[in-house]
Amino acid sequence: MIYKNYPMVSRVVFGRGSFNQLDEILALKRKGRNAPFIFYVDDVFKGNHWLTSRITLSYNDKIIYVPTKEEPKTSQIDQLVENIILGHSELPSGIIGIGGGIVMDISKAVALMLTNKGESKDYQGWDLIKHPAIYHVGIPTISGTGAEVSRTTILTGPERKLGINSDYTPFDQVILDPELTKDVPKDQWFYTGMDCFVHCVESLKGTYLNAFSQSYGEKAFELCKDIFLGDDLSSEDAQDQLMMASWHGGMSIAYSQVGVAHAMSYGLGYLLGVKHGIGNCIVFDHLEDYYPEGVALFKQMKAKHNIQLPKGICEYLEDYQFDKMIDVALSLEPLWENAIGKNWKNIITREKLLELYKKM
Ligand code: NAD
Ligand code: ZN
Repeated sequence: MIYKNYPMVSRVVFGRGSFNQLDEILALKRKGRNAPFIFYVDDVFKGNHWLTSRITLSYNDKIIYVPTKEEPKTSQIDQLVENIILGHSELPSGIIGIGGGIVMDISKAVALMLTNKGESKDYQGWDLIKHPAIYHVGIPTISGTGAEVSRTTILTGPERKLGINSDYTPFDQVILDPELTKDVPKDQWFYTGMDCFVHCVESLKGTYLNAFSQSYGEKAFELCKDIFLGDDLSSEDAQDQLMMASWHGGMSIAYSQVGVAHAMSYGLGYLLGVKHGIGNCIVFDHLEDYYPEGVALFKQMKAKHNIQLPKGICEYLEDYQFDKMIDVALSLEPLWENAIGKNWKNIITREKLLELYKKM
């Protein structure tokens, strides 16, 4: 048995207001006046925003606002990398991502692709990256995905939706400042928060479970229950706790795997562009055969927060479209093996997935 030798985020700051320490942290990493820091910032913070106005720019440092209507594409990463290379005589001192999972993933991918030749689509997969990334910092502004702690960056390429999984992907530095999440709209708070909840259920109910994953997964699961079903949390405590739940949920799947909801949600994402958080919710809502207790809790949470999930998104799809979604879902073999076990191919049939997709 060979155990994974897993890389982690090297440094992390946690605390309300810790965003103010960013300048001090970056000052130590500046390589010179021609090596700027590039800040990718979710465009929801565009304008004279309280968050953006706290970023100090020196020399050629740049803020680039990132639209987050769609999830990142490999072609988008290649374009961002080319813009940096054409615009500067030296590699940047670092990439700083400020936003949700989309901005986290874009920042990690650009940092990797600045030192690895070719197109990002060629690195979708496991351990294809050859050279360390440049210094990269993650500052989440919404909690749940665990992208701040993971060793992947999920990208949609011409042929597949798959992460660049590598030892060089994790951030060198993360700043966890729960205050940054205070203006997240309620629906989005729920969808991204449920991504964390689903990570916990899929990890804790999976066949890959071990004490490492379990210890993180159980903690995050309890935090999610308190946040989404409890009554006595102040909104600040809830923000703090969801940020830690996201981290622990990410740590839990790092050493195990996700499962059925994620596999099927990737299918919806690939074909219909349904985003990760909401896609997981749409799928998870129908998975009582696989995760009975988790789905029952999910339905309680959904009712308590009065969340209406979209219905009938697969209603008018044609057979070839269902086939494509099923292909994408089934290609994620480790997810199925974790969820069902080594003999999953005898249990999970195309007909079963078709029946599930038709309900969505
Ligand atoms: P997101 O990045 O899609 O953002 C969702 C919305 O929230 C956007 O409209 C954004 O503008 C808004 N938002 C973010 N912070 C805000 C704030 N403080 N105030 C107001 N609005 C705010 O959301 P997400 O759910 O965090 O990320 C989903 C992405 O993460 C997907 O692309 C998914 O593939 C990826 N993901 C990556 C990993 C990983 O390990 N790398 C894991 C899970 C998901
Ligand atoms: Zn997820």
